[in-house]
Amino acid sequence: MTTPGNKIKVVCRVRPFLKTEKADESVTVEHNNVLRVTNPRDPTKDVKFNFDSCYGPKVGQETIYRADVRPLVETVFSGMSATVFCYGVTGAGKTYTIQGSEADPGIIPRAMEQIFMHKKHDAFDYDVRVSYYEIYKETVFDLFKPRDSSGSGGLPIREDASRKIFVAGLSEKRINSFEHFDLLYQKACGNRRTASTKLNNHSSRSHAILTVQVQWKDDLGSGKTWCGRLHLIDLAGSEDNRRTENGRDRMAESSAINRSLFVLGQVVEALNTGASRIPYRDSKMTRILQDSLGGDSQGMMIVNVSPGEAFLQDTHNTLNFATKSREV
Ligand code: ADP
Ligand code: MG
Repeated sequence: MTTPGNKIKVVCRVRPFLKTEKADESVTVEHNNVLRVTNPRDPTKDVKFNFDSCYGPKVGQETIYRADVRPLVETVFSGMSATVFCYGVTGAGKTYTIQGSEADPGIIPRAMEQIFMHKKHDAFDYDVRVSYYEIYKETVFDLFKPRDSSGSGGLPIREDASRKIFVAGLSEKRINSFEHFDLLYQKACGNRRTASTKLNNHSSRSHAILTVQVQWKDDLGSGKTWCGRLHLIDLAGSEDNRRTENGRDRMAESSAINRSLFVLGQVVEALNTGASRIPYRDSKMTRILQDSLGGDSQGMMIVNVSPGEAFLQDTHNTLNFATKSREV
């Protein structure tokens, strides 16, 4: 018999209106965990969605970090794995949530600060290594290496002797301070693949995955090496691509994106319902994350939505996906 693993928490975040948007509010947080989506034609047909937590437009980065992310990052120091995904359409606030801005830092800088703070105040000699890569059209690219304009240079996924999955040839940068990390990270962000679509000039068409590995030897004389892993993931936009009227190249991207998000949803659903078969192998991303999802690892999906009526169809699609993944 397999013991049920930890569930993957699913939380929702509604971003504020942008200055350029008409403030026709269609999504509201009702309680801490209920989201109401307005039906513009008939208020009796409003739809409610349940989450583990819901964050409205006034909730800041610090609050979300403290409540949901901080405890998860801490588990890395017990030698476990933790993963945070941001899911949503382009413009819903994924990058803002995971990365943030200089003025209002998101999850990545806060997690790195937390890790270096822990390292500073603990007796163990923690070795911190970081990889940063994107998955574009089911191919893995190292973001710490300059982009190859020919589009080649994808990295293969392999299995080692102990059946652990790894990306062959992926750089692992040894990091000694937050400042050191920030320097490398800012540079790597410039290597992310973007393309213009009708929806957004810089819409992200790839999944960007930051993996932090913390390793140390215990002091009990056994010399055992412990390793905790943290994955922070800015997923590609989940928009319905029939609406973006893209050319053939963009359509090839879209089907890869749609497929990998579909598989991710299935993996999360399978983990949360305790299914016996978990389809990790059906996409590159879930295959790479296989050892870090399920079991006693911690996972959280932040579902980002826009508040306005213009995004209503996208919002419904996003919330239906999320509710299915949650299936409690
Ligand atoms: P995505 O990565 O999902 O395409 P972005 O994170 O780029 O979306 O967000 C779209 C726009 O909304 C950006 O201009 C961003 O600064 C702004 N934004 C998103 N979330 C918030 C938030 N919680 N508070 C303030 N501005 C936000
Ligand atoms: Mg983005």
